[in-house]
Amino acid sequence: MITKARLKSLAEKHGTPLFIVDHDELRKNFRAFRKYLPRVQPYFAVKAGADAAIVRTLFNEGASFDVASMPEFALVYENIKHLKKKERQAWIWDRIIYANPIKPVETLRELDQYKPLVTFDNLEEIEKIKQHAPHAGLCLRIKVANTGAMVELSSKFGAMPGEAVDLILEADRRGLTVEGISFHVGSQTTNFENYVQALNLTANIFAEAKDRGYTKMNLVDIGGGFPAPYDSSVRPFRELARIINSEIKRLFPKHIEILAEPGRFFVATAGYAVSKIIGKAVRDGKASYYINDGVYHTYSGQLFDHCKYTIKSFKRGKTSLSAVFGPTCDALDVISMADPLPNLERDDFVYSDNIGAYSRASTTHFNGFEPATVVHVNE
Ligand SMILES: *Cc1c(COP(=O)(O)O)cnc(C)c1O
Repeated sequence: MITKARLKSLAEKHGTPLFIVDHDELRKNFRAFRKYLPRVQPYFAVKAGADAAIVRTLFNEGASFDVASMPEFALVYENIKHLKKKERQAWIWDRIIYANPIKPVETLRELDQYKPLVTFDNLEEIEKIKQHAPHAGLCLRIKVANTGAMVELSSKFGAMPGEAVDLILEADRRGLTVEGISFHVGSQTTNFENYVQALNLTANIFAEAKDRGYTKMNLVDIGGGFPAPYDSSVRPFRELARIINSEIKRLFPKHIEILAEPGRFFVATAGYAVSKIIGKAVRDGKASYYINDGVYHTYSGQLFDHCKYTIKSFKRGKTSLSAVFGPTCDALDVISMADPLPNLERDDFVYSDNIGAYSRASTTHFNGFEPATVVHVNE
């Protein structure tokens, strides 16, 4: 954790808007994941915090990576390109999953040289992979319940479980190997039952595939969704881990590799945003502050990620419910209509914590306002 005093001095030193990444916290989250889910190899979902320094720290901790585009692939590959070709190849198989079920043909052509592991969820994609990346290993993404997740991810991707084995056999007929099954229970999943259902569904597909003569599957990818502790209503990770551990032990023999793709869980609590007040007004009788960061920038998660961030003050004093707006001219650029803040002045700093996931990663340059400067601490 970074103290308020440290946040403030970083803002004085580097200027605002500032996005701060605490690498001690990244390592702590990674180690907690390994400790509570010892059988599961985490493939960090790069999109949650696409940053070379974050990738490097997690790489050094022993993480693998989930990428979904060539630039994300390059961010990870940067860490291994110095290796000899043979080592590199071994590493790729173990350390990268290209987990975007729909891939442009250009991407498949470029990926093929790395013999990557890629996900797919339909026949059209099997044909594309066969033609443009025949050296890829496949992982079938299935559709599972996303009940109660903050961000729903099942409407866009995933084969219906009932057609899973048909697709696996279809890929096999075309000479491709389906290595296993993947799913995503929805991001920030606080309904742990989603994992139980998805694991049982997956075990049923393994059994049906075996009955129908397909025995090459050796991995289960349990996706992301592991909740960040945004508030006290989120049950501890170790409770979820206990549930997952007992299900995978019951359902999958030891030789089946278990992967996961945590994104938010590694980076959410490692990120802080510090900005400053550039203007103030009273609107509808309410103190209203305009700051130099907003929903087109570090607070983008309020739109794309359905996540609400609280604006906090460095000053003490009697608070009143205040509005906080971003710097752009768009009326959508509202961070809060009711955060308890003391009376603040122009140039005062404010901050948010737990803002490391899906925040700066989806910032824009809208209205000419540049994304926040990034500072890495405890690297
Ligand atoms: C976004 C995404 C993740 C990461 O999800 P979190 O909820 O942040 O853990 C993992 N896998 C896939 C395929 C994704 O699209």
